[in-house]
Amino acid sequence: MTKKLYYDSAYIREWKTRITRKLEREDGAYLVLEESAFYPHGGGQPCDLGWIDNIPVLDVVVEEEEILHKVERFPEGEEIDCRLDWNRRFDHMQQHSGQHLLSAICLDVCGAETLSFHLGQDYATIDIARADLPQDQLMALELAVNEQIYRNRKITSYFVNQEQAAALPLVKQPKVTDDIRIVEIEGIEYNGCGGTHVSATGELGIIKLLKVEKQKGNMRLYFKCGYRALNEFNIGMDILSSLSVKFKAAKEEILDRIVKWEQEQKQLQAELNAVKAENDAYLAEKLLADRQGRLIQHVFADKSLKDMQNLAAKISEETDVIVLLMSNADHKVLLVQGGTSGFACGAFFKQHLADYRGKGGGSDKMAQAGFDTNEDAEAFYHFTVQFLQEL
Ligand SMILES: [Zn+2]
Repeated sequence: MTKKLYYDSAYIREWKTRITRKLEREDGAYLVLEESAFYPHGGGQPCDLGWIDNIPVLDVVVEEEEILHKVERFPEGEEIDCRLDWNRRFDHMQQHSGQHLLSAICLDVCGAETLSFHLGQDYATIDIARADLPQDQLMALELAVNEQIYRNRKITSYFVNQEQAAALPLVKQPKVTDDIRIVEIEGIEYNGCGGTHVSATGELGIIKLLKVEKQKGNMRLYFKCGYRALNEFNIGMDILSSLSVKFKAAKEEILDRIVKWEQEQKQLQAELNAVKAENDAYLAEKLLADRQGRLIQHVFADKSLKDMQNLAAKISEETDVIVLLMSNADHKVLLVQGGTSGFACGAFFKQHLADYRGKGGGSDKMAQAGFDTNEDAEAFYHFTVQFLQEL
């Protein structure tokens, strides 16, 4: 049986030991050690990573009380030096201890039991037995849990038997019956847990509650502790600084600037719409003058489908014509007819688009199509011109 050093202390990060077994499995090479501080997956906490004789440890699992270390390759000797990826381990300790504290205070402040805990690479969550959690309660919970961090309460762990466990006010009845490991936060709670924890709440630094969302009738609470919270703060600061530069305003003034900018945008949009309408009227006149029989055709260098639709609608409303327009920039073709010709735009597109690798369709009066390349769009446009001229 491997001696589990992480139960002696969660702070052992380098040690010397011996290899007791080497296993060659289908998915790779595994080592069993006399002593190990590598925490395997379990209790919601991901496994540790690190190095054995400078060979990367890729995964750590527990099988029948033995800890199996998946390694890139076997080391040469039997005596080995082990080293944890301490940043990863300490992060897990901060998030896991933070979860215990958060769950305990959440029960106290919100009366909500914790149903599950997830510790992911980017975020940690707990699901709590509440149908909702308003913002003011979330803020009260965040304040209360951080208050307990600043009180720097001791966190200890020890093993008890079933009888001793029964005498403790445990958060949940443990699944194991002997050697029950208790993680105690002084004056807060006793929790049956096999994970690795910091030694006092002060080491959590801060717990930041990020958001809540509904999850199958309960609430899912996203949080970050310690360095993760600091990192989150820095990301937010970077975004604010960039906005500050873009808007040429101090942080506190950014929101006001955005409101002003929105107003300007609205006004500009209104002005632009008026100019477009004027331009459309002029364009419609010009296109009508250039018409060949009932067909009006034109290729724009850059005009949105929406603008082409407005223009075509304007022309075909007033005169009994067929309007075929194309935009080079986004490879779009539009066909609109006034209504008395009996020609069905949508059906025509549907029948011929596939030959030109186009996608689209529409009604009898209006059809549009998009193409991956301008060559295809152009080919379809010319084919349609020819077809309509022969009508
Ligand atoms: Zn735990």
